Amino acid sequence: MEVSFPTDADGFLSQECPSCEQRFKVLLGEGSEEPIAYCPYCGHHGHQCWYTTEQVDYLQTVAISTTVAPELKRLERKLKSASTGFLKIGMNVDIPKPGAPPMESDDPFDIVRFPCCNETVKVNRISRLFCIICGMEINMTISDSKKVFLSHKGVDKETVNDYKRTLDLLGYAPWIDEDALPAGTSLERGILKGMQDSCGVVFFITPSFKDEGYLETEINYAIQEKRTKGNRFAIVALQFVGADGTVGQIPELLKTYVWKKPETQLEALREIVRALPVVAGNVDWRSDISGVVTAPKTKSTTTELSSEAKVILKAAVASDGQIVHLRCADGDSIQVADKAMLPDQEARTVAHWVGGLEDLQRRRYIKDVGHKGEVFEVTRKGYEAADGLS
Ligand SMILES: [Zn+2]
Ligand SMILES: [Zn+2]
Repeated sequence: MEVSFPTDADGFLSQECPSCEQRFKVLLGEGSEEPIAYCPYCGHHGHQCWYTTEQVDYLQTVAISTTVAPELKRLERKLKSASTGFLKIGMNVDIPKPGAPPMESDDPFDIVRFPCCNETVKVNRISRLFCIICGMEINMTISDSKKVFLSHKGVDKETVNDYKRTLDLLGYAPWIDEDALPAGTSLERGILKGMQDSCGVVFFITPSFKDEGYLETEINYAIQEKRTKGNRFAIVALQFVGADGTVGQIPELLKTYVWKKPETQLEALREIVRALPVVAGNVDWRSDISGVVTAPKTKSTTTELSSEAKVILKAAVASDGQIVHLRCADGDSIQVADKAMLPDQEARTVAHWVGGLEDLQRRRYIKDVGHKGEVFEVTRKGYEAADGLS
């Protein structure tokens, strides 16, 4: 028996925390190979307890109709044939047929990635979330703030726009105050919010720059961010030299920070790239270049399978498709057609092989037949995946 659930338009499946009862969605077949172990909202720790009530109900009706119903039918027939003479025993078997699996709705969740485990989820974004794989608590207000604020004086706008276009092309997310402020936002509030969304600020101090308290707000906010975020926030002060050798005045407030005096525009760009706590993407072929073999952007599910998982799947597919996992006093055993898969009982070995089994289960390549974690059967998806392995 195989049960599959439809995902939402982006390939996510709803899950529900048994403790706080809040929902989140997981992306199947991508990211971490480990099973879900923590609730992103409350940090509840558990295994295989994340199905929503609708999914559990559906699983139950499927289980009843495929395993219990035929047994009852047989019993009913037996009773009918046994009821001769005056003794009449009868029963009516009326077991609901499973309907369609629960539909996935496109809720207004945010897509969030946990960098620690490379796991992507859809959640109600709150200020602190737990990684669903390793349980690490992540301050969401910091982890996503990767914009770069380019602070300048009005007259330098053209030059700064040049930097903005270049940094944009390199893969950064630069912004200049005026284009990041929606109409009606007060300048200060806009800058504060923008600074909080940033991982760094670059002050362009050109010869036209005189310390007249100008940019004081921006500098104050930047210093405040630096205090909060530590090395996750960079203050980059660039002092440009004019054609006549004149330089802009470094504002008092910035004097406690290191500033650079680049000789050329390219050197200035290098200083910015070097100082930022974020890095732009790896160099790779453009997706629109043809005739070049490129590495796939997202790894296919088969290449992400652990080697133990592959061995188990291949062995199971080659025999009767059954896998038996037993835990007894002398240790774990994973068997396929009476052949033991575990080479030894070292804790590390056991962890790898049991992990491989979980890996297959999580991808639904195998299903837990008795729901005890002991007997597994390769699913249709599993057979397809195995074909892709050889
Ligand atoms: Zn929870
Ligand atoms: Zn993690």
